[in-house]
Amino acid sequence: MRDVTVVVLPGDGIGPEVVGATREVVDALAPSADLSIAWAEHLIGGISIDAHGTALTDDVLDACRAADAVFLGAVGGPKWDTTDPDKPRPEQGLLGLRAGLGLFANLRPVAPLPALYDASPLKRERIEGTDLLVVRELTGGIYFGKRGRDGDSAYDTCTYSRGEIARLARVGFEAARGRRGKVTSVDKANVLESSRLWREVVIEVAAGYPDVELEHMLVDNAAMQLCSRPADFDVIVTENLFGDVLSDEAAMISGSIGLLPSASLGEGTNGLYEPVHGSAPDIAGKGWANPMATVLSAAMMLRYSLDAPEAADRVEAAVASALEAGALGRDLGGTLGTREITDRILVALG
Ligand code: NAD
Repeated sequence: MRDVTVVVLPGDGIGPEVVGATREVVDALAPSADLSIAWAEHLIGGISIDAHGTALTDDVLDACRAADAVFLGAVGGPKWDTTDPDKPRPEQGLLGLRAGLGLFANLRPVAPLPALYDASPLKRERIEGTDLLVVRELTGGIYFGKRGRDGDSAYDTCTYSRGEIARLARVGFEAARGRRGKVTSVDKANVLESSRLWREVVIEVAAGYPDVELEHMLVDNAAMQLCSRPADFDVIVTENLFGDVLSDEAAMISGSIGLLPSASLGEGTNGLYEPVHGSAPDIAGKGWANPMATVLSAAMMLRYSLDAPEAADRVEAAVASALEAGALGRDLGGTLGTREITDRILVALG
């Protein structure tokens, strides 16, 4: 048995519901994957503000740094909504985690299942066979550049260093190796100098991955191709702002926010895993939350941080077969709640 520690941060709203369901699934399969998982539960987000006056305490961040992986539900809710810049806000917990753990790559897979093709806003023939991964740079670019006002003008600057681009590109190429072996690097190199450097460095990194095919695509074209032929993409690597927009666009292909997992990775094997959806205060406490996005985030944790890729495959297969067998939550037009969906996944795990 391998001993691993996972810091678990259920957070607010439906966070504790979907995280609880996921722990059941992971605990059911851990022994067969030779894993002994110690879950260390801590507060983050609004519930941490209530208890400690801040969305993320130093003690919790230290625990996250020392863990093998960090698993998060969701943060936020109307109780903590504020426009007062001096008041703590739940999402500061997420930003603090990203910065504190040095998480520079955000991974979002989008692989709609045949059972759900009709839930997508795109036609079935367009999405058939889609299985893509968006790798977005998370800590640089225009969101972190110098900004300000100058009289009647305002500006934001986009800066990238070679090192920032190279480490993100490597995450994309490594991921492509375990998939279909293709990287699409998205930039705006016909206009932006930061994009020209992006392209240059990605080409340099690609030299170390002769087994992976590299193509470059301008961001405006990528936005169109994602709608018209999403199945042609394997791994998309891109900078922060483009990735923010394209990952949400790609997310719509699957048709439901209750199904989308994500991972944020840094230099080592530690990572942060969380569903793409928020804390859904409108359904919190009702037992309606679909735990599948969170369960699929645990599969990513097994693959990228806990070195248990076969267990990850099993979790993904169990979710797929539960869906094929009709385990549809309300977000997908079904009637099942969190408990029933969890039970269907557990049955599918065998
Ligand atoms: P949301 O994702 O929480 O909800 C959007 C809609 O999708 C709601 O109708 C909700 O009921 C539904 N939904 C979401 N997850 C679902 C699930 N697992 N099963 C079934 N239905 C689901 O987004 P929002 O309403 O814009 O935000 C609500 C709160 O969540 C806000 O406070 C926001 O700041 C926060 N938020 C947090 C994160 C995060 O923790 N990473 C991300 C986005 C939003």
